[in-house]
Amino acid sequence: MFKPVLGIIGGGQLGSMLAQAAKKLDIRTVIYCDDENAPAQHFSDEFVFGKYDNFNKLKEFCYKVDIITYEFENIPYETLQNLNNEKKVNPCPNINKIIQNRLFEKDFINKCNLRTTKYVHIKNQKDLQASDEYVPGLLKTCTLGYDGKGQYKIENSDQLSNFEIETDKEYILEKFINLKTEISVVLTRYGHQKCSIYEPIENKHEEQILRYSEIPAKIQSDILDKSKEWASILAEELDYIGTMCVEFFIDRNDNLYVNEIAPRVHNSGHLTINAYNVSQFENHIRAVCGMEKIKLIKFFDAKMINLIGKDINLYKGKKLNENEYFYDYLKKDIKSNRKMGHLTILKK
Ligand code: ADP
Ligand code: MG
Repeated sequence: MFKPVLGIIGGGQLGSMLAQAAKKLDIRTVIYCDDENAPAQHFSDEFVFGKYDNFNKLKEFCYKVDIITYEFENIPYETLQNLNNEKKVNPCPNINKIIQNRLFEKDFINKCNLRTTKYVHIKNQKDLQASDEYVPGLLKTCTLGYDGKGQYKIENSDQLSNFEIETDKEYILEKFINLKTEISVVLTRYGHQKCSIYEPIENKHEEQILRYSEIPAKIQSDILDKSKEWASILAEELDYIGTMCVEFFIDRNDNLYVNEIAPRVHNSGHLTINAYNVSQFENHIRAVCGMEKIKLIKFFDAKMINLIGKDINLYKGKKLNENEYFYDYLKKDIKSNRKMGHLTILKK
């Protein structure tokens, strides 16, 4: 069988884990990243260093590969579109265009008739001052936010008047909901009505960064079923190919809301590496490379702990129990809010 060479844009931990999964399937990988020290280069067959708007470098990368995918959503749309004219980019860049922008993303989810939190588009100071009904809330930049970056708590009307909007940015103001918990659904879509869906994962965030993920989620089964159904609707509507993740909120009255869509493998899905026969990474590679879908089998329940900042030092060289799996992302510098590694504990 023809095995394509896979180009992966982005060289962080998700790129590393994708490259490792590809190796297992005997698929060659080339990583493209704008960071010379990108950790994923230790796992790929080749590495091209270049900025995401350096079209000469991108061309060089494009010649080396047959199919292209990406590990993060904030690659300029023009870059993906340009590459897509030469080699197939999966998932399709049009999807990226919607999801890169929180406003377009939330509008899209509502167009699919699925519930989101209440939100309003903020373009200037005047818009903000007229948004009392969304307070208390979170002001989020429309683009380039992750792990709580670009988010500001607005607790009362005074803060609404005092907050200084950056004129070159657009925002949404999202009403706070009274969270009971958060879950995510990771799925891999291979084409029309062909999806592998992992069981919903329960997530705990601290300071807007994911801290723990766990299966099974301790939530009523009808809500879990609904979350899987909603995630599949979104995947079908996007005509998605590959692994994606839908993050959900559940409020104190057991209402389900779509929070956001990640058009890529996701941190909450790391436990699939050890808990399932096929991980979210292998599934992504299989789908984007046009390989066959394998029936998912869960071997164990599991908990994943993110190692953020100095947490990583506690596990380096530590003797682990046989049900524990430690992953070091091999990042050069420890930073306080940086995801440095993770630990998965199987509930055997
Ligand atoms: P990011 O792109 O940084 O992941 P999110 O919109 O997912 O941004 O927000 C990060 C976390 O902040 C969420 O997982 C949740 O814990 C909290 N959060 C965000 N928006 C709301 C909201 N409207 N109500 C309550 N909590 C929220
Ligand atoms: Mg999020």
